[in-house]
Amino acid sequence: MTTTRFCEYCLRVLPLTEFRRRRAGGTARMRECRACHNQSERDRRARKQAGQSRKQVGTYLTRLNDDLTNKQIRLLCSAMISHFGGLQGFIGAWSDYYQYAVKQRGLGAYRCLESVIRLMQYCEENRRDTSEMTDEELTCSIREDIRGLIQQCPELAVTAAREIGWRVEPVERQGRGKSLFRTVRTIR
Ligand SMILES: [Zn+2]
Repeated sequence: MTTTRFCEYCLRVLPLTEFRRRRAGGTARMRECRACHNQSERDRRARKQAGQSRKQVGTYLTRLNDDLTNKQIRLLCSAMISHFGGLQGFIGAWSDYYQYAVKQRGLGAYRCLESVIRLMQYCEENRRDTSEMTDEELTCSIREDIRGLIQQCPELAVTAAREIGWRVEPVERQGRGKSLFRTVRTIR
């Protein structure tokens, strides 16, 4: 009885026990070794995951191109960012979608560009004319922007604070709102 088998995937000769049984209790074994089998399972899961996230990006982009009000655009962007676990996750998913769409040569790539244009249009429309603001209004507006940014992406605020040697500590929750952060300068 043979006690070794040749794996057709990694081309190694391995003990028979390194090949999973096709069915529990059966004698027939798989043609790929355990390591190759596990790897192909991981790849399959990753492909499935990537497929799902591309589908989700596609859905968001389609909605982004509809006739949305500025408020709806803001809400949709927050939803996209939180769906992908933060800004970085979202950018990753979007760029993966774009690269895939370009390869597919379908409407996907066009949809990406159309979304970018729609977002640029949104930014253009919402840009405030700072030359006509008083110093006080300007300070107030900057403070509002920073506060909004921190609330939307607290992880960015924490990272940025760390980079300049500051430490961010959470303070006790105030009411039902989001947890607030307190920035403390670290004494070095
Ligand atoms: Zn193998």
